[in-house]
Amino acid sequence: MSRVLVLNSGSSSVKYRLLSGDERLASGTVERIGEDSSPVPDHEAALKVVAAELADRGLGLDSSELTAIGHRVVHGGKTFTEPTLITDEVIRKIEELVPLAPLHNPANLTGIEVARRLRPDLPQVAVFDTAFHSTISPAAATYAIDREVAERLSIRRYGFHGTSHAYVSREAARAVDRPLGNVIVLHLGNGASASAVSAGRCVDTSMGMTPLEGLVMGTRSGDLDPAIVLYLGRTGGMSLEEIDVLLNRRGGMLGLCGDNDMRAVQERLAAGDPDAELAFSVYCHRLRKYVGAYYAVLGTVDVIAFTGGVGENSPLVRETALAGLEALGIAVDPVRNRRGDRLISPDDAAVKVAVIPTDEELEIARQTLEVISRTNRG
Ligand code: ADP
Repeated sequence: MSRVLVLNSGSSSVKYRLLSGDERLASGTVERIGEDSSPVPDHEAALKVVAAELADRGLGLDSSELTAIGHRVVHGGKTFTEPTLITDEVIRKIEELVPLAPLHNPANLTGIEVARRLRPDLPQVAVFDTAFHSTISPAAATYAIDREVAERLSIRRYGFHGTSHAYVSREAARAVDRPLGNVIVLHLGNGASASAVSAGRCVDTSMGMTPLEGLVMGTRSGDLDPAIVLYLGRTGGMSLEEIDVLLNRRGGMLGLCGDNDMRAVQERLAAGDPDAELAFSVYCHRLRKYVGAYYAVLGTVDVIAFTGGVGENSPLVRETALAGLEALGIAVDPVRNRRGDRLISPDDAAVKVAVIPTDEELEIARQTLEVISRTNRG
């Protein structure tokens, strides 16, 4: 059985999972990289911690049983539309994409570089968050601005969370036995995004050139009138840096009510807190709007799939977001929803509603092995 190590190197953490086929042999997270008083000063040190943790369990990085390493890379731009075997050339191209993802791609690259140094003999594969969305049409990908400017600066919809949307849309179609169906995936974690998927191909997604667009998130605003940015600068006297923080790090649920964790918001909601009520209603209204939009984009819908920390664990979000859509064939059975069933729509509903736990590491491992076997065949 092929063994794959999956590495997800974020700006301040490295998550890893070692798999044998679909089976998890080991997993963990190294956190607080580079923070004051953290024992882990940088990504090199973090990867050494990962290697030591694996070695402690007799699963060392030096094991000859290790087949490959799969890396999550956030931004593949227009260059990478599928998982890719890492070479010097590929690394150079991921570097070129840093301006599109200045927080994420450098961390991903460091993970790749350190892992290659530790195991130069081992094939390593980059799996891009954007790749699953590369199939969306020009109509869905193009922003209505001057085309020369857009082209020169690579401005278009890329979409993110693609590994999760790929995995969940496939699992959802399988769960209701409609493998070639139309699926709306609602990935609701700290970040949140929706996608419309037809016969396994993504046709639209809510995150845009950056992860800021679309749904209301823990700390990101999602959609807003772009002229608000101009107004904040001109009239509000804010710098670009301050606006960035306002929208990306102090927006969303945090900006609306002071809590970004949906559990805390729901507790306050139950206690009748008006700020939490407003935040929750804005969150669910936006979700409902995207469900309607993607219904129209797809024409017909077989499954709506909820995933991510909020999507998997909040019956209240699921039933509130989909309330009042019976005319579209969409309904949530309150008992099934509260009980934590996988299928939460009534039996006679035209559109199935499913709760599908996402598994990005498993998807990365599978895609990594696919690339390896393709390379070995080719
Ligand atoms: P990430 O996007 O960082 O991978 P997750 O997908 O794990 O995060 O989602 C994290 C979020 O899930 C938390 O911020 C929290 O709001 C939400 N969450 C987790 N458990 C629950 C729950 N039982 N009820 C409501 N929300 C939950």
